[in-house]
Parts: sequence; structure tokens; C-alpha cells
Amino acid sequence: MATTKINEVTEFLETLAPRSLQESYDNSGLLTGNPESEVTGILVTLDCLEDIVEEAIRLKNNLIVTHHPILFRGLKKLTGATYVERTVIKAIKHDIAIYAVHTNLDNVLEGVNKKIAERIGLVRLSILDPKRDTLMKLVTFIPTPHAEPVIEALNEAGAGNIGHYKNCSFRITGTGTFQPNEQARPHIGTKGKLEKVEEVRAELIFPRHLESRIMSALKKSHPYEEVAYFLSRLDNENQEAGAGLIGELSTPEEPMEFLKRLKITMNTSCIRHSAFLGSPVKKVAICGGAGSFLLPKAIASGADVFVSSDFKYHEFFDGEGKIMIADIGHFESEQFTKELLQEVLKQNFSNFAINFSETVTNPISYL
Ligand SMILES: [Zn+2]
Repeated sequence: MATTKINEVTEFLETLAPRSLQESYDNSGLLTGNPESEVTGILVTLDCLEDIVEEAIRLKNNLIVTHHPILFRGLKKLTGATYVERTVIKAIKHDIAIYAVHTNLDNVLEGVNKKIAERIGLVRLSILDPKRDTLMKLVTFIPTPHAEPVIEALNEAGAGNIGHYKNCSFRITGTGTFQPNEQARPHIGTKGKLEKVEEVRAELIFPRHLESRIMSALKKSHPYEEVAYFLSRLDNENQEAGAGLIGELSTPEEPMEFLKRLKITMNTSCIRHSAFLGSPVKKVAICGGAGSFLLPKAIASGADVFVSSDFKYHEFFDGEGKIMIADIGHFESEQFTKELLQEVLKQNFSNFAINFSETVTNPISYL
């Protein structure tokens, strides 16, 4: 049977949640283990604790895919004095790889928040706080008969996607000039002679993490020995990447009805919320995990409710009567992330087991 290396799994996960989209304070990626090892099975979890490593050992799974990174603040010694040290020591002793996909999974459309939106029943989703400086522009010059296949190759590599539109490009025809020297092996033209060729100037936008893929697609498909191009970083908002989501309910609901339903669908035993606005809930902003930093964006988006977690007492005042805050608990808001990870992994890998951790890692109980 075909074997799969750990780095094949992590590379696949990074096509969904590119590591470059993680926040600066985060530590997503492979935390322990040899990326070249063969995968014997995957255990998916929200938190990687000692019990989870035990579970992986029992199941003979040598890769743990976790949302929260167990190594977050850095370690200066490994004596087993804390749960973090003990978890890491146990994983290393048993050759278990730990891979965390944290804020990069928060910052993509098909990530943590998508799962919450699905459960609440939100439609017309968009990123609440789109990231900047994650997009690039490619301008290239292609001899006219080759323009179509080159642009197609660029589209296939992931260039030209803008929101709900794909294959976006801008093209204009003009004249390109060049003079090959003695060392050149020109596709068109003669050494030492100035050439004038009809060329298409094509412009396409793409996400920064695809740069090497796009550039190799360009060089492979372009007929010229020396491909002329300009690459630039863009300050545009990236509609595909950023924190939180905003969406709408297909039918507006009274605030109390909405909260009661939220409690059931998000499987939480407690919702801490601020005052009702006095109008039905239609627009809903969401952010799995600690999301109070997004409150100003949620208010600016015109949302009626902001569903998130980890709000402090004083932060509940910051809604200013413009939005209802619904704090459903950190674990509760992200608990379905495990399902998301298991689903996408199962769709792509079938030669080993992908297990769903049975251990409840929520450290908080409600009396
Ligand atoms: Zn979290």
C-alpha cells in the first residue's frame, strides 16, 4: 500500500490554511516529530495535552493534528515540571509528531469560523476583518499566440481569483522589443538584431503564499528564454483571508429565540450576553476563540450580534448598545474545528486511520 510522509499531510493542510496567514504571536506548524516519517495514523484534537498523546499512543497514531499549539511561549528547559513540558517529552519519547494549525485556520474562509457559520445557519459569508499585504500582482508580457495558454497556466496555479470570481485578468496588446546577444537562444528573432513583437501585457492578482507556484507556472508555460515580468506587493484587502466572519440568517429571529437556538446548536451550557437591541437578529458576526479584539469591526459591519468568547466584564460595555455580544465559551466556539480537520483529511488521505480524539480537553466546567 502507498505510504504517506508527515510532510505530505502538513503540506496539504497548508494549502487550506497557509502558514503565512498565522498571526505574529502564533506558533502554528510542526512542533515535534520528523517530517520525513511515514504516517501510521492521525489523531485530530482541539488541544494537545498529555492525555491526547496517550490516546495517540494507544491508537498507534504517530501524528497529532491540533488547533491550539502546545508550544506557544517557548521552552527553556524540559524537566517535566509543567503540563506543557510533560506533553512534549511524552510525544518525543514515543516518536509522535504534533502539528498545530491555529490562527492560520482562523484566518481563512473555509476554517474555524466556517464551521460555526454552518451550525448557526448563516448565509452570504464574508471575512469580518480582511487582511492586507497578503496579495501580489503579476504583470507579464507574452507573445500574442501564447497568451492564452500562459494565462491558463497561471490561473491553474491559483492566480486571478477575486472573491467569488475566478480567472480574472486584464490584457492589453502592444509591442515588445528585445535584442538577443551572442549567448542567447531566442525563441523568436536573430542574435544581434533588434526585434519588435506583438505581445500581450497580462495582469493578474494572487495570494502571496502562492508566489513560487505562480512563478514556476509562468516560467514553464512562457515560450521566451528570459521572461519579462513585474511582481509587486499589494495593500488591497484580501477577501479570502482575515479574522472573523460576517453572515446573515435567512429568516430574522427574535434575540431570545436566537440565543436559545445558539445554545443548542453550539452545544454550550452557558451564554454570557449583553442587552438585547430591541430588534430582530439578522446580521451575525462570529469569531471562534478569543474575539473581543474584533468588536469594533463587528459594530462597523452593522451586525446585530457578535458571537465569540473570552469577553472580560468591562468589554461587555463596549457594545455601546449598538450590538449584542454573545460569549459562548472558547472551547464551545471551536469544538467543531476537530470535525472540519477530520473531514478535510479524510477526503484526501485514505491509506491510514484519521481518528477524532475522544478526550474532552475543555478545562472549564459550569456548575
Ligand atoms: Zn482557540
